[in-house]
Amino acid sequence: MDNCIFCKIVRGEIPSYKVYEDEHTFAFLDINPKTEYHTLVIPKAHYVNVLDIPADVFTHVTNTVKTVVDLYREKLGIENVQLFHNAGEHAQQDVFHLHFHIVPRRAGDGQNCVWPKTNANLKNVFEEMLEKIQATPK
Ligand code: 5GP
Ligand code: ZN
Repeated sequence: MDNCIFCKIVRGEIPSYKVYEDEHTFAFLDINPKTEYHTLVIPKAHYVNVLDIPADVFTHVTNTVKTVVDLYREKLGIENVQLFHNAGEHAQQDVFHLHFHIVPRRAGDGQNCVWPKTNANLKNVFEEMLEKIQATPK
């Protein structure tokens, strides 16, 4: 993908602060970090998000997420972390090359990730929801 910003990072055409790299994946610091070591993990090949990536490549990405989380735990003592993957415009994806956010958290880091609304009334339609996907409640 010629104009994809993350493909350019993989190719070294845009500088990045590399955390980890292997055959299939690349991890680097987010340019607008929410906390210290806020990191993005991407596949080297271009996929938009979880909806179009093959399962085996997705596994490479999630394995690298685990590798980086373990690295930060070992080297930095980070014991709290939030993982995000935004998939699609209406799920607040801004860069359309698949990425996981690793956001390390510490007490007093000043962040507070809150969903502003809970749709409590959805509990009333759980049965109908599962019927639509032909699943059954346990
Ligand atoms: P999204 O909203 O798509 O889940 O997150 C995209 C992320 O990519 C944002 O957190 C943003 O700061 C980061 N980002 C966008 N452009 C660049 C860039 O050129 N370099 C780096 N390191 N991060 C970027
Ligand atoms: Zn790309």
